[in-house]
Amino acid sequence: MSVYWNSLVRGLSPYVPGEQPRDRKFIKLNTNENPYPPPPGVIRAIEEAAGAELRLYPDPSCTLLREEAASFFGVKPEQVFAGNGSDEVLAFAFAAFFEPGAKPVLFPDISYSFYPVYARFWNLPSRTVPLKEDFSIDCRDYLIPSGGAVIANPNAPTGRGLPVRDLLSIAEYMEREFAAKGGDDAPLSDRKEPVLIIDEAYAAFAGEEDAVSAVPYIDTHPNILVVHTLSKSASLAGLRIGFAIGSEELIEGLCRVRDSFNSYTLDRLAQAAAAAAFREKAYYDEANRKIIVTRNRVSAVLADMGFSVIPSQANFVFVRHPKKSGDEFFACLKGRGILARHFNTGRTADYLRVSIGSDAEMDAFLEACRGENP
Ligand code: PMP
Repeated sequence: MSVYWNSLVRGLSPYVPGEQPRDRKFIKLNTNENPYPPPPGVIRAIEEAAGAELRLYPDPSCTLLREEAASFFGVKPEQVFAGNGSDEVLAFAFAAFFEPGAKPVLFPDISYSFYPVYARFWNLPSRTVPLKEDFSIDCRDYLIPSGGAVIANPNAPTGRGLPVRDLLSIAEYMEREFAAKGGDDAPLSDRKEPVLIIDEAYAAFAGEEDAVSAVPYIDTHPNILVVHTLSKSASLAGLRIGFAIGSEELIEGLCRVRDSFNSYTLDRLAQAAAAAAFREKAYYDEANRKIIVTRNRVSAVLADMGFSVIPSQANFVFVRHPKKSGDEFFACLKGRGILARHFNTGRTADYLRVSIGSDAEMDAFLEACRGENP
């Protein structure tokens, strides 16, 4: 606490990111980074952008990048917002689409732990909705009057995915509720339609047969904002590039927040690299297919060894050791040079979230699990 801090800063409980150790070489399975490098075309784009033009500000609208993203996702550039990591995009979305002093924003009790941090930062009422016993989301729990909702699909740290249809039913409920109150004709205080934010940070790992993306529905469901990132599926966590895809009205709302804060959130190198990344679909599909195969193999071996493994559609697995507490399991792995992520509270205390690394890294992880499970 400091006497120089205002009441807002005093009341914050900031998000704590996973460790990025510098002192020792760990097998890093704690922040869901992609084990495979970005393709050469992306590195070339950064090298080409790293010249005399760096003296100039970047394009504040990220035009080229948004055009590439739009053609990748099959939407219009006006339906794409780009920001400094999806963390920033989410922070702006909370600011733009939820209302202080109104009904609470809903999100699962076990989900990305930045959501409650943003809610507090922007002074937004929020309510957590408990996951079911098996860590699944029951969308019917969200069919209640609210100020909006945020759902990660697949969810983190559980890795469980949801059928898009379920999420659409929440958006449709919100629309009906709004219309029933009189929509645009309602008193001013009721004239704010709830928005459903769907965080698809891990959607690329769901596999084709159970594709989870809600992007194809943004025209029919203009109250859905889909958030994406290049950190995981495009191996670019180090560049900080995130997106939102949604109706033009939603995108304009995000631009209004950004332009009240910092006009140039994405630098020239990041914009060039991200634009190039969207032209590398074949490379990324192959890398991410490998991650899915590794994830399924690791999940099966762990289950055989008696671990509880939540079925994952993401690039991580959420696992519980058959005998050890989460603390003990975490410490054992760390002692063997492997870092996992431990959310040490409530129902997640006995689980670790383990990112899917290369096959060699995951073999080392499985070996450590065998060693700890005599
Ligand atoms: N959403 C979820 C569910 C995440 O796990 C993460 C990664 N911590 C993010 C968003 C943020 O990703 P980034 O800011 O790197 O785009």
